[in-house]
Amino acid sequence: MVSFALSEEQRMLVDMTRDFVANEVIPVAGHHDHTGDYPTAVAAQAFELGLMNITIPDQYGGGDLGHFEEALVTEEFAFGCSGMAISMTVNNLASVPILIGGDEEQKKKWLGRLTSEHCTASYCLSEPDAGSDAASLRTSAVRKGDHYLINGSKAWVSGGAHAGFFTLFATTDPESGHEGITCFVIPADADGIEIGKKENMMGQRASNTVFISFQDVEIPVANRIGAEGKGFHIAMKTFDRTRPGVAAAAVGIARRSLEEATRYSLDRKAFGRPIAKQQAIQFILADMAKDTEAARLLTWQSAWMIDQGQRNTKQCSMAKCFAGDIAMKAATDAVQVFGGYGYSKEYPVEKLMRDAKVMQIYEGTNQIQRLIIARHLLEA
Ligand SMILES: Cc1cc2nc3c(=O)[nH]c(=O)nc-3n(C[C@H](O)[C@H](O)[C@H](O)COP(=O)(O)OP(=O)(O)OC[C@H]3O[C@@H](n4cnc5c(N)ncnc54)[C@H](O)[C@@H]3O)c2cc1C
Repeated sequence: MVSFALSEEQRMLVDMTRDFVANEVIPVAGHHDHTGDYPTAVAAQAFELGLMNITIPDQYGGGDLGHFEEALVTEEFAFGCSGMAISMTVNNLASVPILIGGDEEQKKKWLGRLTSEHCTASYCLSEPDAGSDAASLRTSAVRKGDHYLINGSKAWVSGGAHAGFFTLFATTDPESGHEGITCFVIPADADGIEIGKKENMMGQRASNTVFISFQDVEIPVANRIGAEGKGFHIAMKTFDRTRPGVAAAAVGIARRSLEEATRYSLDRKAFGRPIAKQQAIQFILADMAKDTEAARLLTWQSAWMIDQGQRNTKQCSMAKCFAGDIAMKAATDAVQVFGGYGYSKEYPVEKLMRDAKVMQIYEGTNQIQRLIIARHLLEA
C-alpha cells in the first residue's frame, strides 16, 4: 500500500523540529551568516532535544529512527538555515562509514562518543586535487606494525575545526587506485593534525569548512574501519545513505524561498495592486510550489528505500540532483520576486540564493549525479 501521510510520531517530530527552528535557528541565522561563527550552542540544544544522530541505532545511544525521519528533520533545519543545519547533521556523514564498515567494538566506541555527549565528527574524503575523482586521493596510510602513519591534506572538511574525530579515507596502496583506499577514524587531538584555513565561502557561512593537514599522524590498527582496500566502497555506500539528507536540505531551501516570495508578493504593490495579482508572478510561485513538492517526493522515496533495505543509488542521485537544481532556481526566483530588495542583505532571500548553490556541488556535483543516473539507465 502506498501512503504519503505522516504517522502521528512523524508529525510530532516535524512539529517539534519546526518549533526549535522558529525559536532557536531563524532568529540567529543572519548573525551566523554574517560572522561565520559556528553555532555550537544551537547544535548542543538540538543534541539535547534528540534531533542529532537520529539514525544511529539504539544500542549505540542514537535516536534509532529511519532515514525518512532524518529527511523530515533536515528539511526543517534547512528551512531555518542550511548553513547552521550542517552543525546539526554533520555526524550523519561521519558516522555512516562506521555503521557500514565498523565492527561492534568500533561502533560502540565512536558512535557512543557522538551520542553520550554533544560531540561532532567530520568526513574527510575530498582533497585539494581530488573531489569528483575521489579515487585519485593521495593521503597515505602506511602500516608500521600495530599502527598506521597518516600523511596528506584534506580539503572542504565541513565542521572540521569543531570535530572530536574524523572519518578519513587514505590510500594504503597507491598503485591500486580505488581498490587501495581504506577508511580510518582519527581522533582530532592526535599529534600531527593541523587545522588549516577556514574557507571564506559564498554561502553556508556558518558551516566551518576547513582545510586539514595530517603529518605523520599515528593511529592504531584498531582505528581502521573495514579491511584495507574497502574504503572506496564504504565511501560510495555512505553517499547512498546521506544524499537523501542533502536533497532534504535543498527542499527546505526551496520551501523557504516559496514562503518568503509568496508573503512578499502579497505585500508589495506595483501599478496599484499587489504584485501577486500579476500572472507572471503567480507562474513563478506555481513553479516553485510544484518543483518543491516533486523534489520532496523524490527525497522521501530515496530515504524510504534505505529504511526498506533497498538499494537506492539511482534514486538518491535523482533526488539530490533534482532537489539541488530546483532549490537554486527557487532561491533565484525568490530574489526576482523581491526585485531590488531581493538583492539587499536586509531581506532573507539573497542568503537563500547563496546557500542554495552548494546543493549542486557537495556530496557529488550534479554532473556526477547525472553520470550515476545515466550509468544505471545504460547498464540496465
Ligand atoms: C561547502 C562545501 C562543503 C564540503 N564538505 C565536504 C566534507 O565535509 N567532506 C568532504 O570530503 N568533501 C566536502 N566537500 C567537497 C565536495 O564534495 C567537492 O567540492 C565536490 O565533490 C566537487 O569536487 P571538486 O570541488 O574537486 O570539483 P571538481 O571535481 O574539480 O569538478 C569541477 C567541475 O567539473 C565537473 N566534473 C568533474 N568531473 C566530471 C565528469 N566526469 N563529468 C562531468 N563533469 C565533471 C564537476 O561537476 C564540476 O562542475 C565540500 C564542498 C563544499 C563546497
